[in-house]
Amino acid sequence: PPIISIRSLSKTYANGFKALDDVTFDIEEGEILALLGPNGAGKTTLISIICGMTNPSVGSVTVAGHDVVTEFRKTRGEIGLVPQELTTDMFETVFNTVSFSRGLNGKKANPALIDQILRDLSLFDKRNNALRELSGGMKRRVLIAKALSHEPRILFLDEPTAGVDVALRKDMWQLVERLRKTGVTIILTTHYIEEAQEIADRIGVIDKGRLLLVENKDALMRKL
Ligand code: ADP
Ligand code: ADP
Repeated sequence: PPIISIRSLSKTYANGFKALDDVTFDIEEGEILALLGPNGAGKTTLISIICGMTNPSVGSVTVAGHDVVTEFRKTRGEIGLVPQELTTDMFETVFNTVSFSRGLNGKKANPALIDQILRDLSLFDKRNNALRELSGGMKRRVLIAKALSHEPRILFLDEPTAGVDVALRKDMWQLVERLRKTGVTIILTTHYIEEAQEIADRIGVIDKGRLLLVENKDALMRKL
C-alpha cells in the first residue's frame, strides 16, 4: 500500500482563499517525489496538511494507513520535517541538538543511533561543536539530522536549496541521493525544475492549488 494517500483534498483559508483544489494522488514508500510549482502554488499548504499542522477543508490524507486529522499522534511520528532555517539555540552542540530533537518526538535516548545519523550526514567530526561554529551547509545538514533523529519513514524537505549558492545546492542533491539508500521516503518542494529533474523519481506539478500532473520523471522529461 502507498505510504501516503491524498484524496479529493481541498483547503480554503479563513479569508476565503482556496489554496488547494481537489488534489488526489498516492506516494509510494521509498520514492523521492518533488512537488514543483511557483511561489503561492499551494506546496507548503499541502505539506502542512500531510504533517497534521493544518486541517483540510474537504477530503482526507492518510499516512501509513492513519488519518492525519483524527490519528495525528500516530502519523506525526512517521514524519520528519526539514524547515529552511535553524531556530534552535546556536550555543548548543550538534550532538545535543539532534539528540534533544529525538526526545521531543517521544523516543528513548539512543546515542549510538544519533552518532550514526551524524556519520551519514558527514557531521560526526562536528558533533561537539556549537551550532554557531558551523558553515551554512553544515547547519542545513543539522536540520536534516534533527528531522531523522526519531527514525521517521517519511522526510519532507521544504525548498531545500532556496537562496543557496551553486556549490551548496549540489551538496544537498548528493545528500538526498545518499539518503535514498536508507529507504526513507523523501518529498521535497521546489520551484527549480533542474532540482526536481536532478533528485526526484517522480514529479508533481502544482499551480494555483491544482495538481496539474504527477508523473515518473523520465516520462515527463520526454514530453517537455
Ligand atoms: P507555496 O508553498 O507553493 O508557495 P503556499 O501553500 O505557501 O504556497 O500558499 C498558497 C497560497 O495560499 C498563497 O497564495 C498564500 O498566500 C495563501 N495562504 C497561505 N497561508 C494562508 C493563510 N493562513 N491564510 C490565507 N492565505 C494563505
Ligand atoms: P562558510 O562558513 O563555509 O564560508 P557560509 O556560512 O558562509 O559558509 O555559507 C556558505 C554559502 O551558503 C554562502 O554562499 C551563504 O550565502 C550560503 N548560506 C549559508 N547559510 C544559508 C542559509 N541558511 N540559507 C541560504 N544560504 C545560506
